[in-house]
Amino acid sequence: MLLRRLPSVQSLLQHPSAADALSSLGHATLTRALRDELAQLRAAVLAGRAAHLPDAARIVAAAAAACSQPAALRRVINATGIVVHTNLGRAPLAEVAAAAAAETARSACNLEFDLQTGRRGSRGVGAEALLCRLTGAEAALAVNNNAAAMLLALAALAGPGAEVVVSRGELVEIGGGFRIPDIITQGGARLVEVGTTNRTRLADYAAAITPQTCLLLKVHQSNFRMVGFTAEASLSELAGLARTRGLLLLDDLGSGTLARLPGSLAQLEPTVRESLEAGTDLVAFSADKLLGGPQAGLLAGRAEVVDRLRRHPLMRALRLDKMTLAALEATLHLHTNPPRAAADIPVLRMLGQSAAELAARAERLCALLDEVCTAEAVASAGHAGGGALPGQDVASRAVRLAVPGCSPDTLARALRTQTPAVVGRIHDGCLLLDMLTVADAELPDVAAAIFAAVAGLADAAPGQLPA
Ligand SMILES: *Cc1c(COP(=O)(O)O)cnc(C)c1O
Repeated sequence: MLLRRLPSVQSLLQHPSAADALSSLGHATLTRALRDELAQLRAAVLAGRAAHLPDAARIVAAAAAACSQPAALRRVINATGIVVHTNLGRAPLAEVAAAAAAETARSACNLEFDLQTGRRGSRGVGAEALLCRLTGAEAALAVNNNAAAMLLALAALAGPGAEVVVSRGELVEIGGGFRIPDIITQGGARLVEVGTTNRTRLADYAAAITPQTCLLLKVHQSNFRMVGFTAEASLSELAGLARTRGLLLLDDLGSGTLARLPGSLAQLEPTVRESLEAGTDLVAFSADKLLGGPQAGLLAGRAEVVDRLRRHPLMRALRLDKMTLAALEATLHLHTNPPRAAADIPVLRMLGQSAAELAARAERLCALLDEVCTAEAVASAGHAGGGALPGQDVASRAVRLAVPGCSPDTLARALRTQTPAVVGRIHDGCLLLDMLTVADAELPDVAAAIFAAVAGLADAAPGQLPA
């Protein structure tokens, strides 16, 4: 009987309550959603799970709601204290960079068109000119990411059969299982490892050079740090060796910074300009780590070397799209004015915060929570992340959250599943929301997420939580 009373898709489409959904979703999408909804109802009736049928308006509403599932990729508030968090999309863009990407996305642009001559132009000229100005390089090139920059450099400069000499202390795994040795051999070059894990001298490189050698490679250790009985050849020593033996020196700087970092971090990451001044032929680095831009891999160096990369067939496969280029150019433009860069580029702004600013933000969040749960401002240690400044703490303040009867993991999950999601970190068995990576403007959203999470937990376990 119930099955017979199920409305048809046609009658639901013509129902007055379907008008809004029809205009926002379109006929095809709503039809499919109604079919799915009716199929579920039919299954429920047959399984004896439905004593009566919802009315037409409710069926339409359920079908429309099923179409407006949140996107899989969505906004997250980063309360981990890790500034450049690869799993959370690395650097958030500066406002002007995000606006430039959005404007380019919506309209046509002179991506490969010279407005002066009206002829074909070359992609990325703006970003390349800014990179040269910021690093002192003769030429520059931007590709999809730093892994792509390394792949292109090795393919163009060290083809099949060529030997690339690298220290055993620098055979780095970047993360996600990607290893520098694999990138080198991908292009057909042969990897020649020299030295030991903890000590590699200039003489080790010199002894490994054969007629097949074409490249000396230096790799930033990025995500780990060696302490104790260690030695490495300096860039200028390697540059001298490369020059006398007719080889090229490639430096994978990893994060790469254009200017000295704020405060106590200043001495810890070499700049791209310093690498080039030491005599490196080509430097590769990421745009979305400490540089604070969109995902891209940047190459800066001698014009003749960069040209060999530009002409390589792989370049076409690794090139940047217009939105990324627009965001990159805007970010690099900010870097030409260091005080503005420090204020407007989120990564630099986060790393340059004072203790007082961080403490005030933690207190403000505690006050916003109005005792909905236990919240306490505590000292914390954040990190630059993204393979920059490994092992180096960035002093911060966090809000330690607790809900009686609820484990930190359960509370963390409840916060992660809010909209927007809030991602903290568990430290010493407690959930911390680190203020290093949360902006003042995000505090109301963080507080709202905590209220909603606590309410949800109370519904799930009535009687276990305080009123
Ligand atoms: C991060 C990193 C890379 C990879 O950069 P992506 O931009 O993530 O591709 C390569 N080398 C080093 C040393 C790094 O730190």
